Amino acid sequence: MFPSRRDFLALASTGAFALSAPKIVSQDPQLPGRPPNTSFGSQDRVFSNVLVIAAHPGDAFFAMGAPAAVATHSGGQASFLSLSLGERGSASIPVQQYGSLQQQAAEKAAAMLKSKALFLHYPDGEIPVTEGAKFAVCDVIRQCKPSVIVTHWKGSWHKDHRACCEIVQDAVFYAGLPAIVRKDPAHNAKKLYYACNWEDAVGFAADTYLEITPVCEQWLNACALFPMWRGENGFRYNDYYSSMAVAHGCLSNFKRAVALMSSEEQRILSIPTP
Ligand SMILES: [Zn+2]
Repeated sequence: MFPSRRDFLALASTGAFALSAPKIVSQDPQLPGRPPNTSFGSQDRVFSNVLVIAAHPGDAFFAMGAPAAVATHSGGQASFLSLSLGERGSASIPVQQYGSLQQQAAEKAAAMLKSKALFLHYPDGEIPVTEGAKFAVCDVIRQCKPSVIVTHWKGSWHKDHRACCEIVQDAVFYAGLPAIVRKDPAHNAKKLYYACNWEDAVGFAADTYLEITPVCEQWLNACALFPMWRGENGFRYNDYYSSMAVAHGCLSNFKRAVALMSSEEQRILSIPTP
């Protein structure tokens, strides 16, 4: 599926990876009888340019924002593409007004994380799985030239999240094919990751833990710019995502971490003879 397959096979694995900042030395928390964690060194090589692609701005920043913050913190680039404004997400604020609030929050949050906020403005709840949407996302991938793409896992109750996953998978394919001629030349991201999202939990199995200790506070401050962050819409995003950063840090022996799941095609490890 990915023309650049060989580029990332060296980075992929069937086990769980722990990715840390280069200056932080991790003590492997090996327990008696338990196999040690696999680690493949610095995050710098991989997370130099992160493109987040989410159905809604809240997903982009809450579930996928920390890897983007890691990229910009180490001098790289990041962009947040929301396919919809999530404008139908409030029970009390009119749709158009809530869409504006969401867009403003996303733009401010992106600026706080030294990144860009991009939008495709599909209707909330009706993100279409069409060739038009796939090519629109393909064009953003070619424009941003990410090393890593982070998006929704398909195991979601939310139809927009499932739609986003399907759109991104095909957009990644289109973006990498030189024979598909668009405004910008073909581009292959090194890695496609699915984010750990409370709404996309069916069949989600983390295989990578990314250390976010140096950027955690800044990322949470960016999330707090959204009206829904403190539970106004019925879910306590702040408590959930801040405590998951602690829990995933415990599992990977970092102070703070996010869990990611490699795309199906990239969960392969090739081991050469010495
Ligand atoms: Zn969503």
